[in-house]
Amino acid sequence: MSLLTLTDVHSYYGHIHALKGISMTVEPGEIVSLIGSNGAGKSTTLRTISGMMHPSRGQISFDGREISRMEPHTIVLAGLGHVPEGRGIFPKLTVRENLEMGAFTVKDPTLVRERMDYGCELFPRLRERLGQHGGTLSGGEQQMLAIARSLMMNPRLLMLDEPSMGLAPVLVELIFDIVKLLNDKGVTILLVEQNALMALSIAHRGYVLQNGEIVLSDTAANLRRNESVQKAYLGIN
Ligand code: ATP
Repeated sequence: MSLLTLTDVHSYYGHIHALKGISMTVEPGEIVSLIGSNGAGKSTTLRTISGMMHPSRGQISFDGREISRMEPHTIVLAGLGHVPEGRGIFPKLTVRENLEMGAFTVKDPTLVRERMDYGCELFPRLRERLGQHGGTLSGGEQQMLAIARSLMMNPRLLMLDEPSMGLAPVLVELIFDIVKLLNDKGVTILLVEQNALMALSIAHRGYVLQNGEIVLSDTAANLRRNESVQKAYLGIN
């Protein structure tokens, strides 16, 4: 059984028909990448899965449960984490408080500490900055915090929206290395990226979105070799 299945999902912003019948699957253990140009509907797909918006039509099932009418906090509790575009950290709270907020339903303080330690092991930079306000972190550090915070709920599936956005190449590599490491440790990943070359270098499979529809789906290796994908998204002519 797939971990995540979208069947004919439609979403609107007012009259704007942003998703026009998305059907896709994510299998346990996979890294699946969504690629497409600006406005194709990638972020909207993640927002619709995480309950930030509800589809007007279609089904979304996660781990065998229908989630398309659930609220975001219930979906997080079911094991589906979302690191949104722009990171969504709390700028006025410290790094430690941001991480604690990530574990909002975990009552056991030992578990909260263990998970915080794990996040700081992945990103040692965060440990040095536990008392610093989130808003004063660099862009790369904020991305690290956003990922570490989403791990506080121990998700089975983690959705990442443009984790490389605005980061220097060395930090992009670090973030992608961590995404790969998390996947090796058993976290299934759904990755939205403008940096399609990087995304397809770590993904198992990918979907190409255009105008709210999936126009292509294949293994990452085949997508990298596909001429139209190379021209449109990989900067290869
Ligand atoms: P980008 O990489 O630029 O974020 P994307 O593929 O993630 O692109 P979406 O953000 O999902 O694209 O946008 C899909 C469509 O929905 C676009 O036409 C966009 O203009 C529209 N849209 C997105 N957010 C809103 C909003 N809050 N209100 C109205 N329309 C929106």
